Amino acid sequence: MPSIDRKDSLQMYRLKRTLDELVSKEGRGTELVSVYVPKGRPIPEVMNNLRQEYSTSANIKSDRTRKNVQGAIDRVMQRLKFFKETPPTGLAIFCGAIPQNGPGSERMETYVVIPPEPVHISYYGCDAKFFVEPLTEMLREKEIYGIMLIDSSGATYALLTGKRLDIVKEITSGIPGKHRAGGQSARRFERLREMEVNDFFKRAGRHADEVFLKVISLQGLVVGGPGPTKHTFTEGDYIHYTLKQRLLTVLDTAYIGEQGLKEVTRKAPEILKGVRHLRERQLMQDFLYEVGHDTGLAAYGEEEVRAYLSKGIVKTLLLSEALATLRVSIKCSACGYKERKTIQSLHVDSFEQEILEIACPKCRNMTLTIEDKVDIIDELAELAQKTNADVEVISTETEEGEMLHKSFGGVAAVLRFAPG
Ligand SMILES: [Zn+2]
Repeated sequence: MPSIDRKDSLQMYRLKRTLDELVSKEGRGTELVSVYVPKGRPIPEVMNNLRQEYSTSANIKSDRTRKNVQGAIDRVMQRLKFFKETPPTGLAIFCGAIPQNGPGSERMETYVVIPPEPVHISYYGCDAKFFVEPLTEMLREKEIYGIMLIDSSGATYALLTGKRLDIVKEITSGIPGKHRAGGQSARRFERLREMEVNDFFKRAGRHADEVFLKVISLQGLVVGGPGPTKHTFTEGDYIHYTLKQRLLTVLDTAYIGEQGLKEVTRKAPEILKGVRHLRERQLMQDFLYEVGHDTGLAAYGEEEVRAYLSKGIVKTLLLSEALATLRVSIKCSACGYKERKTIQSLHVDSFEQEILEIACPKCRNMTLTIEDKVDIIDELAELAQKTNADVEVISTETEEGEMLHKSFGGVAAVLRFAPG
């Protein structure tokens, strides 16, 4: 199995969730403020810049827009004051008046994002939408992949970094075509040709080692080419075994060289998705193994997993990206009674209404209120991290992921040892 250092699935899930929310927001005018602070830029400098933007915005004609823009800048500055220094990956703040329920219902909303990867731009902008592209960029698969194309005429070596493709090396085999020269015996020609091909494979393998082994963060290798040559090559003993372990797929292309590379990159999104899916499948299969063999090391369902998390015996926590569930803290404002409940995100609004008509179980007053709501993925992940359990957020894009969501309630765990 290829060993893949992948991005932290929990961090990426969080970023994706925030982005989904930010993208859905729209202001009434060009009045939503987005601010990016790159790593290393001092906060006081950013504050100065915002003060200037504040005075510039005094020129905005529309009263409402001016008021909203200045209000947003003001809030961004208030939030920045909480930071003694810029976080190691920088910072992004979004603020603006968002209509809640048609015109006139605007409410100021502020989002502070500490990104999982360094922010490189210094930015202030005002628009009808939040400027999220630098964060969206972080979600793209950016690992480096090696591509090698081979047929009997030669080989091409390239590196794919995000969307950028660099050809590193091209070699030719020097092997003549399949037609033997006159007078040569067929057997002798075949034997010679076989030797030449073998020598070429050895040479092509050495070049592959040379090109790809030094790429420390190489996530995987894709080998392609026309005809059966690529299979003979990858099945033989021509490339270093660590490279072989990282072989993701062998695929058919009509050409080697630049043309062939274009074919591979067209298929790249699918290949990369396949890598992520492979990892998710492995995680789920590990869990299903424990279930199937009744080892006592599998747990599932929110309640059961929560109990094992608090005992600290969870090794790997598996959470479905499709959970859409909140952990709600309820408090009685009269007697201080507290309770926590798990509610589907969809039903939270109606739950907030219902709770006003329910008597507190302790003092019997109608004084229950919702104190706090958190995404259950965050809540369980936090419990897991306290005891050094691995947390994996699993998509529903594979059959196994779908199973986690549908059959196991979206929450599952592999335990460190079977509970007594
Ligand atoms: Zn009460």
